[in-house]
Amino acid sequence: DVEIKGAFKQFGANIVLNGIDLEVKQGELLTLLGPSGCGKSTTLNLIAGFLDPDRGEVHIKGNNVTKVPPYKRDLGMVFQTYSLFPHMTVYENLSFGLKLRKVGKAEQKKKISKALELVKMSGLENRYPRELSGGQRQRVAISRALVVEPELLLLDEPLSNLDAKLRYELRAEIKRLQKEIGVTTIFVTHDQEEALSMSDRVVVMNAGKIEQISTPTEIYNHPKTEFVFQFIGKSN
Ligand code: ATP
Ligand code: MG
Repeated sequence: DVEIKGAFKQFGANIVLNGIDLEVKQGELLTLLGPSGCGKSTTLNLIAGFLDPDRGEVHIKGNNVTKVPPYKRDLGMVFQTYSLFPHMTVYENLSFGLKLRKVGKAEQKKKISKALELVKMSGLENRYPRELSGGQRQRVAISRALVVEPELLLLDEPLSNLDAKLRYELRAEIKRLQKEIGVTTIFVTHDQEEALSMSDRVVVMNAGKIEQISTPTEIYNHPKTEFVFQFIGKSN
């Protein structure tokens, strides 16, 4: 579904991605896991199209998407913070992408109501982001990413600003939702437990390279490198 081939990215003298090869399968929840600065967001931004690799290619559905702008890549993205337009209500936040796609008013209403129901946010259509809790905001952000029925969902540490209890809740919810609608999802986190508990497969990254790609069980039981062993073993 998504493929990164030999991606290399450098900012000044800083080599941030040093040859990334990665294949994401249709319908799976794949997690990029690794310490701060290892290149997780950069990898996600290559897929989203906010950045292009210096060398290497990104393929979505078999097409090389280098130079294809983000809005033409058929994906939904949620960031750590500031995911919503602050001056728009929940409803307006969700209708934004639908309007761009020329979806009619009545159809918009149906889709928005369904997308809000998915994340248990029905009834809060007229609230502004500042009138929502952190968890509610991220729920709406996920709902906004999904309302356009994207081929691909990209989640960049969407839970890292939430308290532990809410994080647990939303992990389970995201996993359930992802399986329910079957959208191919790439989830970024630096939290080992989060990665192991949610994912179909985990990509462990370190300093711009991939250390291991395996199922959570495999990663936990058979770490391939000393780094993976240390990183997975270490509790937060
Ligand atoms: P975190 O867990 O802290 O979000 P990350 O794994 O997502 O980390 P990246 O955001 O991909 O890390 O950054 C990798 C490296 O690239 C870091 O050293 C960062 O400072 C650098 N970097 C990222 N974006 C830019 C940019 N636009 N210009 C210069 N350097 C950048
Ligand atoms: Mg990041």
